[in-house]
Amino acid sequence: MAVDFDIERITPAEALRRQRAGSVLIDVREDNERAAGIPAGAIGVPLAELPARIAAIAGADAEVVLSCASGQRSLRAAAVLRELGYAHVASVEGGYKRWSAEGLPVEQGALDADAAERYSRHLLLPEVGSEGQAKLGRARVALIGAGGLGSPAALYLAAAGVGTLTLVDDDKVEKSNLQRQVLHADARVGMAKTESARITLAALNPSVHVQAREQRLRAANVESMLSGHDVVIDGADNFPTRYLLDAACRRLRIPLVYGAVHRFSGQVSVFDARRAQSPCYRCLFPQPPRAEDAPNCAEAGVLGVLPGVIGMLQATETIKLILGVGAPLVGRLLCFDALAMTFRELRLPRDPHCPGCSDEARFSGYEDIVQICASP
Ligand SMILES: [Zn+2]
Repeated sequence: MAVDFDIERITPAEALRRQRAGSVLIDVREDNERAAGIPAGAIGVPLAELPARIAAIAGADAEVVLSCASGQRSLRAAAVLRELGYAHVASVEGGYKRWSAEGLPVEQGALDADAAERYSRHLLLPEVGSEGQAKLGRARVALIGAGGLGSPAALYLAAAGVGTLTLVDDDKVEKSNLQRQVLHADARVGMAKTESARITLAALNPSVHVQAREQRLRAANVESMLSGHDVVIDGADNFPTRYLLDAACRRLRIPLVYGAVHRFSGQVSVFDARRAQSPCYRCLFPQPPRAEDAPNCAEAGVLGVLPGVIGMLQATETIKLILGVGAPLVGRLLCFDALAMTFRELRLPRDPHCPGCSDEARFSGYEDIVQICASP
């Protein structure tokens, strides 16, 4: 649309005076631009949404003042409103840039300037937006294992702005980890994995609070370690931890994002005790395998990229759960085969006789079962 040049252009100070006298002030910048701040009392509506939303904000006889970043888009917005029959429209010259430079009152957005820039590609998605980004910022995620699965998951959750990441792992970095555990570095062989991970994550996103717990998850500490978190990511490398995690997440009603890898294949699912229809880990694996049946950790290999793929799927499910968007992988087991390059989805219904979550199941306390290996 051609700009209508008879649109009145006013200074920010005049806009403020009119706003106080009853004019409606609309900031037509995009959500991500407004995240860092807007003129006090202004209503934020992206230019593209203005025609559809204006009627709910002001009648055609209202005085409407439009503002943007520098004064161009607000002219177009004013012309759009003129076309729609709004007779009293004006555009703020210099936009928010001049408004804030002249020290006129502003409202801080939900995000500070660093966050508004850092997460701008999230803010462009209506499904995330500044509200969703704030949810991510308030979220607390526990990652059990800072290894192959925990590495990609932690990196992407930190990058996404998840406010608190609790890393639980009692191992030290070994050279043989570096083929897949990309949180760590050659120079940090011998360092605690939680500390090595904290260094990497802080370098990526200093605003994320990383809680390093250099401990093994046990019956005695599992509830205190997990309570208060919104999501738990299972990146464990042994069965005892997985069964403990499952029991605790069920009792604490925290969604558990399960992932496992073996050689060239992996699987992912979400066990969410808050949902009546959700299966649990024991619907899939009712009993721990006997030690002699479990794969030997030292001998079972894994393609280095495999935990990368599975861990990122776990991060994806975690972010969806925090935002409350999309369909979580509840009641479905997603199986990945790297050699065939196929994803297969299996239905995973709740087992009515599950020893973990069925009506007949009885909880008799957490148990430290014999140490056996689950996956490399
Ligand atoms: Zn179950």
